[in-house]
Amino acid sequence: MFELLGDWKRTDYCGSLGIKDLGREVILMGWVHSKRDHGGLIFVDLRDREGVVQIVFNPQVSEESHKKADLLKDEWVIAVKGTVVRRPDETINPNIKTGEIEVIARELRILNRSKVLPFPIEDEIKVDELIRMKYRFLDLRRPVMRKNLMLRHEVMRATRSYLDSKGFIEIETPYLTRSTPEGARDFLVPSRLNPGEFYALPQSPQLLKQTLMISGFDRYYQIVRCFRDEDLRADRQPEFTQIDLEMSFVTEDDVIEVVEGMIKAILKATKGVDIDIPFPRMSYDEAMLRYGTDKPDIRFGLELHDITAVFRNSEFKVFSDPVKKGGIVKAINLKGKAQHLSRKELDELTEFAKSLGAKGLAWIRISGDEWQSPITKFLSEREKEELKRLLTIEDGDVIFFGADTSYTVNLVLSNLRLRLGNRFNMIEQNRFAFLWIVDFPLLEFDKTENRYVTMHHPFTSPKEEDIELLDTEPEKVRARAYDIVLNGVEIGGGSIRIHRSDIQRKLFERIGLGPEDAKKKFGFLLEALEFGAPPHGGIALGLDRLTMLLAGASSIRDVIAFPKTQKGFCPLTEAPSPVDPKQLLELRIRVDVKER
Ligand code: ASP
Repeated sequence: MFELLGDWKRTDYCGSLGIKDLGREVILMGWVHSKRDHGGLIFVDLRDREGVVQIVFNPQVSEESHKKADLLKDEWVIAVKGTVVRRPDETINPNIKTGEIEVIARELRILNRSKVLPFPIEDEIKVDELIRMKYRFLDLRRPVMRKNLMLRHEVMRATRSYLDSKGFIEIETPYLTRSTPEGARDFLVPSRLNPGEFYALPQSPQLLKQTLMISGFDRYYQIVRCFRDEDLRADRQPEFTQIDLEMSFVTEDDVIEVVEGMIKAILKATKGVDIDIPFPRMSYDEAMLRYGTDKPDIRFGLELHDITAVFRNSEFKVFSDPVKKGGIVKAINLKGKAQHLSRKELDELTEFAKSLGAKGLAWIRISGDEWQSPITKFLSEREKEELKRLLTIEDGDVIFFGADTSYTVNLVLSNLRLRLGNRFNMIEQNRFAFLWIVDFPLLEFDKTENRYVTMHHPFTSPKEEDIELLDTEPEKVRARAYDIVLNGVEIGGGSIRIHRSDIQRKLFERIGLGPEDAKKKFGFLLEALEFGAPPHGGIALGLDRLTMLLAGASSIRDVIAFPKTQKGFCPLTEAPSPVDPKQLLELRIRVDVKER
């Protein structure tokens, strides 16, 4: 019963037909999205990558096609020859692009059939994601997934065309490269020709793009896959895509300007949105102070207030003890919601705070003159007055407190802020709030390693005026780094690099990399820096996250064609998998795993 395409050539995509095509003879090919038999007439929604169009099989037009159409089932593959006509008024469907027309079929060819599907080809489905990933070929037929991948393509296209217009050159860097530890673990690839030795898949093209600047390419970019073998927390993938770029003879402002222009072009091309540039900038210190995070969502207020000073010598030990140990006290004022937060909900928020490492969550509900809270009785009149003033407390407010190390307070309150913002619909949807975070510290002290580590990567330049402090007060040295944040998600980061080998060596030393180690790990960079390295800098943006936010998707897996699970497993191809012992023998690798 299967037929060949024969001499049929598709004339149109189903989803692109419209009033403009009235009266045309068309040949369409695609999948049977659904079929309805209405007393003699058979209606088929035919679907291809551009959308769906209604086909009508009428026995009076073609008895043979009508008979064949009777056999059709969901997801069979067919080709149809017919005429585009206007739908009768009462059957016009304003919800779909092709809703004003239909195609009267004269001929039908059945090209292939389909088994019964494990889930329907619809946007809203209640299916375990593992099943979706195992049947990714079907999952990607769902309109929402198709749109996401097309959007991704548009983002890449807009990126390329913008960067091209600005004189950037796309240069590929190798995937089989040398292990350059950048914080995460490398994926290793054994070398058969050099037994016992390994390539690493790049965590980013960082060193090679810097090398390209030393070579004089001036402006480089690449839409590039990066690999990091991390324990997959939250929404991460072992391989992900970056829009990676690097420029010579530039300062922070030059890189920022290019990125703003690029994002403006991407938003215009994909969403038709004209976004205002330049984006606001905020220092790292200010972001931590006001939002408790270096990736604040600035679409709403509910800011954090530092009230450490009020409780420095307080009788209330829960607040003053952490301060004595060098910690902080901060608070959030949730305005006018005292009546909307039940005791039960406050308990849930307390549990939430605890799950993030807090010892508890102090709160006060303001009702008239009364401060309802288990902690009120511990506060002095002076403290209450101070709080009133600093937090502009009024009737109906709810105040939440955090008192602990600054790390814990900021972590807990920044997350609480987001949770409350969502709970009370304070976050403006459909808005793209971009923000640059600048003036990061260059170094932070790592207690477990008992040494300074770089906050970005060790090729980031310190601010010229802070270089002196590298020896005396390393934590005060600011970096020439910038991160870009969209709606509370970090979508990229970069820096002006160190282009002088003496400073690079000095920084390596500062983070505990002696000359020998530095040479072993980054020898080629150190050498290249001695041959006329220009001042340079760049940035990398996460294509997956950016596309996710533009798509309004909730996971980057929904904008990646073939993603992996949290365990790094691909349910479709079943990678990773054991390999033939012969392959291992060739690589001179012996595997020592008792159980899989
Ligand atoms: N290589 C950095 C990263 O992958 C980005 C940059 O500094 O350009 O995060």
